Amino acid sequence: MKTIIEPFKIKSVEPIKFTTREQREEILKEAGYNPFMIKAEDVLIDLLTDSGTSAMSARQWAGIMDGDESYAGSKSFFRFESTVKKITGHKYIIPTHQGRAAEKILFSIVGGKGKYIPNNTHFDTTRANIEFTGAEAVDLLNETGKHPEIRADFKGNMDVEALDEFIAKVGKENVPLVMITITNNSGGGQPVSMKNIRDVKEVCKKYDIPLFLDACRFAENAYFIKKREKGYENKPVLEIAQEIFSYADGATMSAKKDALVNIGGFLSMNDENLAMQCRNLLIVTEGFPTYGGLAGRDLEAVAQGLEEVLNEHYLQYRIRSTEYFGEKLISAGIPIIEPPGGHAIYIDAKRFLPHIPPHQYPGQSIVCELYLDGGVRAVEIGSVMFGKYDKDGKLIPPPMELVRLAIPRRVYTQSHIDYVAEVVIEAYKNREKLKGYKITYEAPMLRHFTARFEQI
Ligand SMILES: *Cc1c(COP(=O)(O)O)cnc(C)c1O
Repeated sequence: MKTIIEPFKIKSVEPIKFTTREQREEILKEAGYNPFMIKAEDVLIDLLTDSGTSAMSARQWAGIMDGDESYAGSKSFFRFESTVKKITGHKYIIPTHQGRAAEKILFSIVGGKGKYIPNNTHFDTTRANIEFTGAEAVDLLNETGKHPEIRADFKGNMDVEALDEFIAKVGKENVPLVMITITNNSGGGQPVSMKNIRDVKEVCKKYDIPLFLDACRFAENAYFIKKREKGYENKPVLEIAQEIFSYADGATMSAKKDALVNIGGFLSMNDENLAMQCRNLLIVTEGFPTYGGLAGRDLEAVAQGLEEVLNEHYLQYRIRSTEYFGEKLISAGIPIIEPPGGHAIYIDAKRFLPHIPPHQYPGQSIVCELYLDGGVRAVEIGSVMFGKYDKDGKLIPPPMELVRLAIPRRVYTQSHIDYVAEVVIEAYKNREKLKGYKITYEAPMLRHFTARFEQI
């Protein structure tokens, strides 16, 4: 087989700024050793997130020019609506400015004290929007998903038995809906199988509870199903996506992921009464139901992006390029979550830096080294992001210390990725010299964004 190539050519380029190691030492120091505080233009390769960082196609840019900015009933809305309907099959399509706006609206209606929302793993904004209403967000991930070193095809699957038991325990009247996140972002971008979605749906049916998808990376998940699940190898990805959505009564979506745009999202559902309540809230916080917090041009770009993301050459390149990056690190002996997921590579910082304990933030140490050595920006997902304190002020670390290298869609080429792999491998060779960090400033909430550190 020949090399899988980027399925596009480049019409417009954006220069990246090179810096010296001395400059980066100064920049990182100024930023309090927190890459979130570095100016983006001082980053050579930015793998902070795959959200809203996609390169748009010429056709999407043409759609931007063609957008209809009418307040009500814009033609761009109808194109957007028909594209989302084609993929989801859902009756009511409500545009929002991004994923969390869809979550906020949905959970303001179905959430509240005493309610429980199960999911394979809640993404942090989903959890925050649920908990903000007083409801409880519950993760019911299958066992393989909890072990970074175990290779399995569908590590994003929900534990179906645990779901059934959970609903029986808390009472179906207290579970307004069940969610499945595809792919499972917080669990390493791992896919969920069609069988699992079907089995979860059966449990939902038994208790008469609607199933909603957190569908941010539905196309990547559909492609994994095509590659890994028996019976789907010859099915077009669009049909696989349609089947996934056919089991769901609704979905929330951040278009900043698999709609290949820089802003946008939506809420879709079949229940007319719920849709009416959602639209009423939408008008208060987002805007009129035919634009919902977006410009007409954004709706055009989302519609076009949703068509492009289901192109199988695109998905083959997307999934393969993430896997290629992962393989390079694995073959250098670097511990990562295996197998690689769809949108990112996650380094297991505990195994990478066994000499640095969680309370000295091994993930932060790696993130700083990648920037210092190569100008690469990654993000710590471990004790900095999720650590809590006990009553004596001692750190309670989360189960895993990870560093995420998220890959923006259609932005970097294979040589960029080769370069990043070289930087990570160099850091691994020097791992014994890496030092831990301590926090010198932190905000009371979401401290990872603004915390300042010092090397120990
Ligand atoms: C990004 C994301 C969201 C939130 O979407 P925003 O557009 O960032 O508000 C929700 N769920 C998952 C799985 C995500 O990856």
